[in-house]
Amino acid sequence: MAFEGLADRLQETLKKIRGKGKVSEEDVTQMMREVRIALLEADVNFKVVKDFINRVKERAIGQEVLKSLTPGQQVIKVVNEELTALMGGEQSKIAAAHKPPTVIMMVGLQGAGKTTSTGKLAKHLQKQNRNPLLVAGDIYRPAAIKQLQVLGEQLNAPVFTLGDQVSPVEIAKQAIVKAKEEHYDYVLIDTAGRLHIDDTLMDELNQIKTEVKPDEILLVVDSMTGQDAVNVAESFNAQLELTGVVLTKLDGDTRGGAALSVKAITGKPIKFAGMGEKLDALEPFFPDRMASRILGMGDVLTLIEKAQSSVDKEKAAELERKMRKMEFTFDDFLDQLDQVKKMGPLEDILGMMPGANKIKGLKGMQVDDKALGKVEAIVRSMTVEEKSKPEVINASRRKRIALGSGTSVQDVNRLLKQFEDMKKMMKQMTQMASSKKKKKGFK
Ligand code: GDP
Repeated sequence: MAFEGLADRLQETLKKIRGKGKVSEEDVTQMMREVRIALLEADVNFKVVKDFINRVKERAIGQEVLKSLTPGQQVIKVVNEELTALMGGEQSKIAAAHKPPTVIMMVGLQGAGKTTSTGKLAKHLQKQNRNPLLVAGDIYRPAAIKQLQVLGEQLNAPVFTLGDQVSPVEIAKQAIVKAKEEHYDYVLIDTAGRLHIDDTLMDELNQIKTEVKPDEILLVVDSMTGQDAVNVAESFNAQLELTGVVLTKLDGDTRGGAALSVKAITGKPIKFAGMGEKLDALEPFFPDRMASRILGMGDVLTLIEKAQSSVDKEKAAELERKMRKMEFTFDDFLDQLDQVKKMGPLEDILGMMPGANKIKGLKGMQVDDKALGKVEAIVRSMTVEEKSKPEVINASRRKRIALGSGTSVQDVNRLLKQFEDMKKMMKQMTQMASSKKKKKGFK
């Protein structure tokens, strides 16, 4: 998880002050000294740290906090609010499709995740019933056009290309003509990257900008590069006047410096965060939710949204009916697994639960997506009969299932036992629920 070191240190520091009924200026100064070190170690720009510390200190030793009934908690509230403000305060959305097509230019250095993010953004827009046209404007990197085409195929979204012999400015121009004719509401232009910023690249990007007058210029930066990401953002912004930033690879073990410095240094908000390599691993960036995650207060809103967008409501209702009637089978179990998997890696989900990082045993635990794969393989090796009536699975069938799924008989036994326990628990729960209803006079 991103921010892990920073989150640990800040939470450790804040814990000391949280419960205090009385907080002195000295307490605040001591705490801020620790917060300062934590931020610097997370690779946050030193100027940003200095300003942040001053702002928090000023508010925290103000009368409203020290004289309040819960000064410890008030200090934490101030830190939370200032962290949120540091990352931009409100969520910054991308330009709406008011006068189609809305044109978005994706820029950034090679390897930052520009092409992948272009695909992810297309998917994000599709989910909102938009139809984006992808434009292959990187004619220099040998595989870039192909890479975008492959993404386009996966998304079922068209990719506009004129090969690698026509200038990117011309490509962009023609793409927009096509988008207007064929009523696409967004045009996403993937542009060329370089290993380092150079004048030729900037000239080309500026020409495209002048020609197509994009509604958005989004810079894609790799959060793993820390301060470098911020420097890159500063240079691109000076030359191109960005409208926002897409911060990628926040699923990795980045220390978080880029996320906390970009807005303060460039004045441009982070609009999206890349949370993985898959096409649906792009999250709108909410500064307040990110601050909550860093302070271990969880991010329940994102969790709920993820569940709402990935859980199939009809299936959920059907499942509830089956649970009540005790008809839950291994097929339903597989369905459930699929739904959980759609929400993303388990480790990320746990990271959004308030206090999950404080629960012993969860802390530092690698949530094993492979173990889930094993369970899935076992269920998939069962016959139709076995899935709906697990009681027919005798010793020889267990052996066959283990062989078929590349697991051991013990693995199969364990899963069967867990499944039985789960059913028993469901039975108890439904009985409890129905006896409660009866007591209240419901029929
Ligand atoms: P480009 O040169 O900027 O177009 O970069 P690509 O889109 O080709 O991405 C470079 C590498 O980073 C690829 O292996 C991507 O799968 C990977 N990548 C992009 N975004 C993310 C992200 O948010 N998380 C992770 N883990 N990997 C990413």
